[in-house]
This record gives sequence, C-alpha cells and structure tokens, in this order.
Amino acid sequence: MQYHVNGNLVPAEEATVSVRDRGFMYGDAGFETLRAYGGTMFEWEAHANRLRRTCDVLSIDHGIGDGELRKRIHETLEANDLRDAYVKCSITRGVQAGKLTPGPADNPTVVVIVSELPRGGKRGTSVWDAPATAEIVKTRRVPDHALPAHAKTHNYLNGTLARLETEADEALMLDLDGNLTEGATSNLFFVRKGVLHTPSLSGAILPGITRTVVLELADELGIPTRTGCYRPVDLRRADEAFLTNTTWEVRPVGSLGDTELEIGSVTRELATAFDALVESRHY
Ligand code: PMP
Repeated sequence: MQYHVNGNLVPAEEATVSVRDRGFMYGDAGFETLRAYGGTMFEWEAHANRLRRTCDVLSIDHGIGDGELRKRIHETLEANDLRDAYVKCSITRGVQAGKLTPGPADNPTVVVIVSELPRGGKRGTSVWDAPATAEIVKTRRVPDHALPAHAKTHNYLNGTLARLETEADEALMLDLDGNLTEGATSNLFFVRKGVLHTPSLSGAILPGITRTVVLELADELGIPTRTGCYRPVDLRRADEAFLTNTTWEVRPVGSLGDTELEIGSVTRELATAFDALVESRHY
C-alpha cells in the first residue's frame, strides 16, 4: 500500500509525520473522508468545499489548491490500483514551536490515505444485511460556539466519548438543550407518517455530504421532508430511521436502545436511489 505524504507517494509503513505535528499534538487539522467509486471520487466538489471551510475556521491557510489535492488523491488511488476505495485526506497546521498559539501554516502536513472499500460496504454485502444499532448517549454534542460542528477537524473526542458509552454501532448525541443532533460519525434521519425528518443545519451538526444528497433524492422522489429541531421522543415515535455518512451511505437503524425498528419503505427507496445515483455517475 502507498500513501501520499507532503507531495510524495511512500510505502504505508514509511508514511509518518512528526510527533511535534500540531495535528497529532492538538488535533489542529482539517480532514475529509471520501469515497471513490469506479476510480473517481463521489461529490468531490462538496468535499473540497467543506475542507476549505474547515481550514478557514481554523485559519489554516495552507495554500494548496483543490486541483492539487485532487491530483494527489488520484495518484494515491492509481498507485494502489484501487477503483472502489475509502479515502482520507488530512491537512494539519504542521510542526511549529512548542506553544499552543498557532503560527502561519507555512509548512502544512498533507496526508492522503486509502484503503479498498468495495461497493455495498466493508464486507462487500448490502447495508440491508447490517442495519445499525443506535443509542442516545449521555455525552452531549459540543455546542457550536465552543467548537463549530460544521468544521470537520481532527478533534473527534466528542464522538469518541459518545462511542465509549455504548456497544451500539452509533452513539446519538443531544445538544445542551436536549435536542437531537447527530451520531458520532453520521447524520440522523427518521420517518413518521410518511414524512422524512432530519435535524436542521442550524443545530450542532456536521453538514454531511451524504445528508445533502439524500435530501435532494427525497425531493426528486416527492418524499415530503422537514428539517427542524427534534426531541428524543420524536425519534422514539418514528416508524423508521436511518443514518448517513460517506462509508455507510444510507444505513437503516434496526434498533434504538431496546426498541426494535422496522426497515421501512422510505429508507429502502432512498437507499435504492442512492445506489442508482452512484451507478449512473461512476460505472
Ligand atoms: N456527522 C459527523 C460527526 C461525521 O463525522 C460524519 C462523517 N463525516 C457525518 C456526520 C456524515 O458526513 P458525510 O455524509 O459527509 O460523510
């Protein structure tokens, strides 16, 4: 396996960064998880835009254009002869003098790692074979005005603490006021009486790229959709629920705590439409 580190392809075991890198020391970095289908990246522009916005939030002015990042990702896929893959692209503020106050990102660390990810999930099976178990945990989502949820930084401790609380596949977090936000690594959708609901972007959530695609598909399919502010009881009353992220795509929720949930028709319709979109764009 070969990874891309600071402009060079290197064997995975030699792909290292300094122990003084701020990405390692403080989580001072932005990243994107992407997916390649059939050799090209799904929703590249949306990912590039989100990474740029994350770096803007952190004032990491790395000076590397989207085209250059895309080139490095493609080089990494090609070097590993991968067409269907998981891709992670990180940009850190780099190595700086030992104080917390950040300096200019004159020497950012830029890393691209890839691994094979066949269509249909890690095991090469359909998501229908692996509905997610989910649980609402006690750890609250960090408020936006403390650590902007819309920025995808290397600081994943909020989600890590949430996942430590549960054996479930996904830990769902509430905000400080008790409203539903998102999972540790996924956005939440639920369906009640035929209407699709998802927490709105005004809450402390990452604007998931899969979330946006699913909302567009729902619109095209004529599925009535609401985004809003929801309480746990709204989810408990749901007829069906699913999670979205780049790796899971549309993943049905099979249980919420002790309560079993049906994999419903709206979830199926959207997952099928997502699959058809990928097929039409990439194969
Ligand atoms: N929320 C969080 C906290 C995440 O880490 C992710 C995964 N990136 C998502 C939502 C889903 O985002 P996307 O659909 O862009 O993968």
